[in-house]
Amino acid sequence: MSRVLCNLVGGRSLPAASDEQLDDLDPATGALLARIPRSTAADVDAAVDAATRAAPAWAATPTAARADLLDAVADAIEARAGALATLESQDTGKPVSLAQRVDIPRAVANFRFFAGAVRHQQAGFHDMDGKALNYTLRRPVGVAALITPWNLPLYLLSWKAAPALAMGNAVVAKPSELTPLTAAALGEILGEVGLPPGVFNLVHGLGPEVGAPLCAHPGVQAVSFTGGTTTGAAVAAAAAPRFKKLSLELGGKNATLVFADADLDAAVAGAVRAGFTNQGQVCLCGSRILVERPLYDAFVERLVATVSAMRIGPPQDPATELGALVSLAHRDKVEGYVQLSRDEGGTIATGGRRPTLPAPYDQGAFFEPTVITGLAPTCRTSQEEIFGPVVTVHPFDSEEQALQIANGTRYGLAASVWTRDLSRAHRVSAALDTGMVWVNTWLLRDLRVPFGGMKDSGVGREGGELSLDFFSEKRNVCVAL
Ligand code: NAD
Repeated sequence: MSRVLCNLVGGRSLPAASDEQLDDLDPATGALLARIPRSTAADVDAAVDAATRAAPAWAATPTAARADLLDAVADAIEARAGALATLESQDTGKPVSLAQRVDIPRAVANFRFFAGAVRHQQAGFHDMDGKALNYTLRRPVGVAALITPWNLPLYLLSWKAAPALAMGNAVVAKPSELTPLTAAALGEILGEVGLPPGVFNLVHGLGPEVGAPLCAHPGVQAVSFTGGTTTGAAVAAAAAPRFKKLSLELGGKNATLVFADADLDAAVAGAVRAGFTNQGQVCLCGSRILVERPLYDAFVERLVATVSAMRIGPPQDPATELGALVSLAHRDKVEGYVQLSRDEGGTIATGGRRPTLPAPYDQGAFFEPTVITGLAPTCRTSQEEIFGPVVTVHPFDSEEQALQIANGTRYGLAASVWTRDLSRAHRVSAALDTGMVWVNTWLLRDLRVPFGGMKDSGVGREGGELSLDFFSEKRNVCVAL
């Protein structure tokens, strides 16, 4: 039986002011999972008011107490990890094994990490040769809007909520309308561990009806957004007139660069993981695979053999490697790109179709993992973010050409480089126009390091001190001696 979710405003569970609801569907079966509030600006106003009232007392709470509370959240998520993984898998269509292995442990890690980070933060200090001493205070920003996408719902919400709360801000979170379940669960957990009412508020609903008024709201001082590039531009425009602090983590069309001296087994395994994790719906996914010509044929043969053997099926089956895409509409978009690649002269080396699955999964948003060859790196299929289980493979003849192709997109989020040549690894890493580069690995995350992209992939960086900086105002105090 489906459930009915509420907004969380000032510690109270409330329906939308409009009393309208939206359906939350299981993309693997089409079944109704929940009905969520179809909120509007009136609900946003109430949530921002509640956050504004709660913010001063939370900011005045000792740092150690805030950190202890974050640790308690981590413990509570861990204690119900199984149930949360199931919710995440139902909501997104991702394999439950992936949610158990990645999404939920990462949410735990996010809260633990920022509890530690805020306990151990250091103040800046500059001595002016006996004339004066400068020191830097970090103060909370006030009320922060956290807007998150559907691909890694709890993982990404906790990545924002943990540092925002750690630094003493009150927040209004707006999860994706497609995947609201674990955000609602997080709201319950935060109440259970004793977060004061109003410090964490949650408003469900559609982007233009909730996200847009939230970004523009005069009571919001910082907007942390993760989502698509087009939406990011609207968020930036809404936030700009009031000079809000703004963090934008946007789309990608990331390259996997495989040089002829790479360890072939490791490079194929890495390219498959980078291409198809979470059905290719990770912003960091390596959707363009560039292979040095001498290795190209052997690489493609091995890649196609590995990808065509991947198991696609019910998300709750532990053997499933690829579940459903997030929605039928998104599956249709991905399928449209595969058709476009045919029109652009590409060859579907494997995949390219909807798989045949038994009921009820025949109603689900499944799509075969797909490898496309023979496309120009400049065509639309090779340039636009597909955000599904589709990779294109391109040969290259020199390091310069590899860099030219890799850098030849509007995006600049991440890349991975596969080579045994250490000098080349450093040289190529320095020349890539991306915020992140992995060498002989992919998506190996240290939560202290800068995370984010350049060009149309975003503005700003998250992670460690950078997140603490974003969710605070730095104030320099200069004391004359
Ligand atoms: P989306 O941009 O459609 O939606 C993201 C969020 O923004 C949702 O909560 C949505 O309701 C809200 N939204 C929509 N319109 C809005 C508006 N006008 N104002 C404010 N909020 C609005 O993105 P999506 O389809 O949910 O997610 C997929 C995209 O997210 C991909 O492009 C992917 O690359 C990107 N992404 C980026 C990162 C990163 O760290 N760079 C991580 C994950 C996903």
